[in-house]
Amino acid sequence: MNLIFLGPPGAGKGTMAFRAKEHYNIPHISTGDLFRAAIKNQTELGKKVKSIIDAGDLVPDELTTAIVEERLKQGDADKGFILDGFPRTIPQAEALKKITNIETVINFTVTEEEVVRRLSGRRVCKGCGESFHVEFIPPAKEGVCDKCGGELYTRDDDKIEAIKNRLSVYASSTEPLINFYKVEGNLKDIDASQHPDKVFEDLKATL
Ligand code: AMP
Repeated sequence: MNLIFLGPPGAGKGTMAFRAKEHYNIPHISTGDLFRAAIKNQTELGKKVKSIIDAGDLVPDELTTAIVEERLKQGDADKGFILDGFPRTIPQAEALKKITNIETVINFTVTEEEVVRRLSGRRVCKGCGESFHVEFIPPAKEGVCDKCGGELYTRDDDKIEAIKNRLSVYASSTEPLINFYKVEGNLKDIDASQHPDKVFEDLKATL
């Protein structure tokens, strides 16, 4: 089961990938997570990509594709995988075609207004990394993590200017992939504005 999860930032691809990973027992490969781990561990890669990611721009295609190719070589991806946040450009999709076959591409659809609401309200704990949302999952005490008491902050790329940039980058670089995979014949739309339980039901029914 080789899957791609496509959709704008804030569509809930990561949340659905987490559930699907457990349900289908296949790895969740998120390029965003791989980059964030590199930044946290202050690796050479992390140093190269930090300012790009903070601004909401795209990491160069060659660098991103090389990381995914390397990750797919690990044995756990042999029986299938979920690519979340990759590919994000036509050249990445062309490169992926040469690396492996893709069975289904899920296109999670959600309005721009909803994306802004979801991302701008997200708060992350500096201590343990737990995620909250000022509106949907508020902490018991404002600005304080329920789990460890750590301070909650807004990720640089969840600040309003970066969100706007991520959305415009999505529209210009990533949205063309919808047509790319429509032509390939393996694209399926899912309404991601629904409750996460319903989105996951739709996903299972589609797969
Ligand atoms: P995400 O968590 O998927 O929203 O990714 C966070 C950030 O990582 C993005 O805003 C980009 O800066 C970078 N990134 C993740 N995946 C890719 C990709 N496939 N191509 C280029 N940059 C990426």
